[in-house]
Amino acid sequence: MSTRSSERGNQDVVEEKGDSASAGHEEGPSALSVLTPAVADRIRRHLLRWYDAHRRPLPWRGEQDPYRIWVAEVMLQQTRVETAVPYYRRWLERFPTLEDLAAASDEEVLKIWEGLGYYSRPLRLLQAARVVKESYGGELPRSLEELRRLPGVGPYTAGAVGSIAFGLPVAAVDGNVRRVLTRCFHPLSPGPRQIEALARALVDPRRPGDFNQALMEVGSTLCRPRAPFCTACPLSGACGARRGGGVPQAVSPAAARRVRKVEEVVLVAVWERAGGAAFLFRRRPARGLLGGLWEFPGAELGAGADPLSAAEAVLGALGLNGSASPFPLPPLAHAFTHRKVLYHPFLWRVLPGSEEIPARWVEEGRVEEELILPAAQKRILSLAREALVRGT
Ligand code: SF4
Repeated sequence: MSTRSSERGNQDVVEEKGDSASAGHEEGPSALSVLTPAVADRIRRHLLRWYDAHRRPLPWRGEQDPYRIWVAEVMLQQTRVETAVPYYRRWLERFPTLEDLAAASDEEVLKIWEGLGYYSRPLRLLQAARVVKESYGGELPRSLEELRRLPGVGPYTAGAVGSIAFGLPVAAVDGNVRRVLTRCFHPLSPGPRQIEALARALVDPRRPGDFNQALMEVGSTLCRPRAPFCTACPLSGACGARRGGGVPQAVSPAAARRVRKVEEVVLVAVWERAGGAAFLFRRRPARGLLGGLWEFPGAELGAGADPLSAAEAVLGALGLNGSASPFPLPPLAHAFTHRKVLYHPFLWRVLPGSEEIPARWVEEGRVEEELILPAAQKRILSLAREALVRGT
């Protein structure tokens, strides 16, 4: 079971873990040529002995239920272990079996996942659970090929679930594994395909799940991107970087990604009714970034566009009447995996128009209860509440 820790939970991403690191890398001379059976055997023995003695006691360790193993694998992608643990427990309290999950709604799974980020993942888990229920009688399929055909299951997840849950002798290569193997086979600079081949050749056929988890555990706890703890590492005797005296620094996939910077205007429309204030929200499309979550209406700003004019356009498109001048809330920045967004929120007291609009009014005090908001929208909501309390 993986224990990686590379990204913050309030970001969103759609790729299978580790995919982005493979782009554009040149393959070097074959690292497989130096991996003799004796070397492979030594690596397995040292690694598994260390894992048996030092693995962290985590709630999914020793789990036998393939569904629960699968949930942990999906949850841990791009998420710190300490962040994932309470979510994992909550998820299993609410959806203890695959049947329970398959019967849930999008809103229910998003509510349990709320705050963990990467919101396409619980929705894909739900889709896949329904497929497993309908096509496999509620039991996860046991072959790599069938696992790969499930929604949201890429090579990493299939390898992890296949090896841990079903004992398939297959590799599971994530960023941690990639970093460990790159350093072990330094200075050969194995590219992504060679890393995959090395991981396949190394996996212990007798304990494939433990082997994969051990390699990830080394990457997560010892072979860290910066300042690896080589003196405690079970692979130090076989490690090319350690022998060569210079450990290559990892280039984090996050740093290597191209990040697009955008600005968006946000309309925090507030309707002060007799029964109390209400905010207007709209739902994001089911697919894509933050799919299915709710947000204040808004729009991306073109180059040089005036945020206030853009807010007026959003107001008009929704058929609302601004009853007074809008109040600009402090701009705030939020980083997603591939985007950095600078939001320009405007608090605007409005009267709803007569037409039906594709948005929903929610009482100010019931927003968190009724809707799932992304992290940045929650921050905007806080700013709006503070402004209302001040009587802005
Ligand atoms: S010896 Fe050091 S560089 Fe090599 S795998 Fe272990 S922690 Fe990483």
